[in-house]
Amino acid sequence: MPEKTIFEKILDGEIPSESVFEDENVYAFRDVNPQAPVHVLVIPKSKLTGFADLATADLVTVGRFMQEVARVAGKLGLEEEGYRIVFNQGKNGQQTVAYLHAHILGGRRMSWPPG
Ligand code: AMP
Repeated sequence: MPEKTIFEKILDGEIPSESVFEDENVYAFRDVNPQAPVHVLVIPKSKLTGFADLATADLVTVGRFMQEVARVAGKLGLEEEGYRIVFNQGKNGQQTVAYLHAHILGGRRMSWPPG
């Protein structure tokens, strides 16, 4: 059995997290090292290792996950002012946790290009 990622440990309740939303498909919680006034991570409850896995996932899984991310951003009250969604993929993307997660960043004006 491969070592569980930190997000699987969070889903299994082995590591505490600050929940902002949960349903049967996704879990959303605050990033422990926030990069903006609002920084929430959304993860699917069924494991995918990163954004690249969406290339071969079924369309219902892909669509539902993206819709849930948008809904969580709305629940966070970010729609009017706007927000940024980030998926870090692999080494050059600086992905540090091998479990698909969307970063929702809001509450400040973002800069471009990203670092
Ligand atoms: P990434 O670099 O895209 O893989 O993002 C991983 C994110 O997980 C980082 O922003 C971390 O701050 C965040 N993170 C790591 N451990 C925890 C944790 N225990 N609770 C909440 N967020 C975490």
